[in-house]
Amino acid sequence: MPATLIQLRPRTRLITAELARPPAVSRLRLLRLSITDRCNFRCRYCMPLEGVPKVAHHDLLPLETLIELTQWLAVHAGINRVRLTGGEPLMRSGIEFLISGLQAIDGIREVSLTTNGSLLGRMAWELKAAGLSRVNISLDSLDKERFAEVTRGASLQSTLNGIDAARNAGLTPIKLNTVLRRSTWRQELPSLLDYAAQTGFEIRFIELMRTGTERAWCETEFISVDEVCEGLDAELLSVGAQTNSSAQTALINWRGAPVAVGWITPRSHPFCDRCDRLRMDARGQLRRCLMDPMQFDLPRQLNIASQITARREFDSYIAGKTPPLAMDNALAMSQIGG
Ligand code: SAM
Repeated sequence: MPATLIQLRPRTRLITAELARPPAVSRLRLLRLSITDRCNFRCRYCMPLEGVPKVAHHDLLPLETLIELTQWLAVHAGINRVRLTGGEPLMRSGIEFLISGLQAIDGIREVSLTTNGSLLGRMAWELKAAGLSRVNISLDSLDKERFAEVTRGASLQSTLNGIDAARNAGLTPIKLNTVLRRSTWRQELPSLLDYAAQTGFEIRFIELMRTGTERAWCETEFISVDEVCEGLDAELLSVGAQTNSSAQTALINWRGAPVAVGWITPRSHPFCDRCDRLRMDARGQLRRCLMDPMQFDLPRQLNIASQITARREFDSYIAGKTPPLAMDNALAMSQIGG
C-alpha cells in the first residue's frame, strides 16, 4: 500500500457519545462522493478535448478508506445520503463493493449515482444487487450528431441503452440531467420533453456554470432558466414543495402530457441557503461548495490529530460554508467532482 494512503483507526474508537452529535453549525445531509476524475466522455461544458491533468492512481484512496471516511461523516456531520459522481463513477473498478460498503453504514439511507449512462447497459443489474437505489443520467440531446458534438464523440445509443437497463434493473426513479446552452436549447428541449413525457422520467435543466478551461465558452453559452421558461411553450400545472434539493420541481403540461421538470438555477437564483451538500473527492479532500477553493484534508486530519482536534477543525471548516463569492471555478467539473 503506498505510504500516502491513510489508515483510519478502528470505528469503535471514532465514535464516542461526546463526538457523535452533529455540529450545531451543520445541516449537512448529502455527500457527493467523487470516486474518480476519469471520464470516457469529453463534454464541452466539463473539460477540454485533451482532458485535464489526472490524479495519480497512487493518490486515489482505496475504496475501503472511502467507506471509512463516509462513516466518519455520517457520525460526525449527520450525512445520511451518498451520491456517487466523478468523472464518470462507473469507470472506477470495484464500485459494487463500494456501494455495498456505503449502504451498510449506520445512518446512510440511500446510495445513488450520477452518470453519463454509457456503461449502465452492462452494469445496471450488478449495481442494483449491490444496493444502489437510483440513478441520475446526463442527457443533453436526443439527436445523435448533436449528442456527439456536445460530448465530443460519444454515442447517444450507449446512453439510451444505459437508461433502458437502469429502468429494467429498477434503479428508479430515474432523473435526467440536461445542461442548458443558449445556442442549442430551442433544438434540444422539445424532443427531451417528449422523451420525458413518454418515459415518465423527471428531467432537470441545469444552468451552465463557469468551470475549468471552458469558462469563456460557458459564459457565452449561458442562458437563465427564466429566459428558457419564457420561451418554452408549456403550461405550468403545479410547483413542487421546496426541499433541500438543488432543483425547484414543477409539473408542466407539455403537448398535452404532464411532465415533471426540475430547474437547477445556481447562477440566476442560487440555492445556497438550503444547501445540505458536502463534497468529497477520491483523495478524501472535502469541499463545502462546488465553487469553494478551500478544501479540507480529512484523511490527514484524522491521521495527525486526536479525534477531538480533528472534529474541532472539521466543525470550523463547515462553519465557513457560505455562499461563494462568484459562481466560478478554474477547475473542470470532473476535477471538482460535479
Ligand atoms: N460523468 C457523470 C455525468 O455525466 O453525469 C457525473 C459527473 S458530471 C461532472 C456531473 C454533472 O455535472 C452532470 O450532470 C453534468 O451535466 C454537470 N456539469 C458538468 N459541468 C457543468 C457546468 N459547467 N455547468 C453545469 N453543469 C455541469
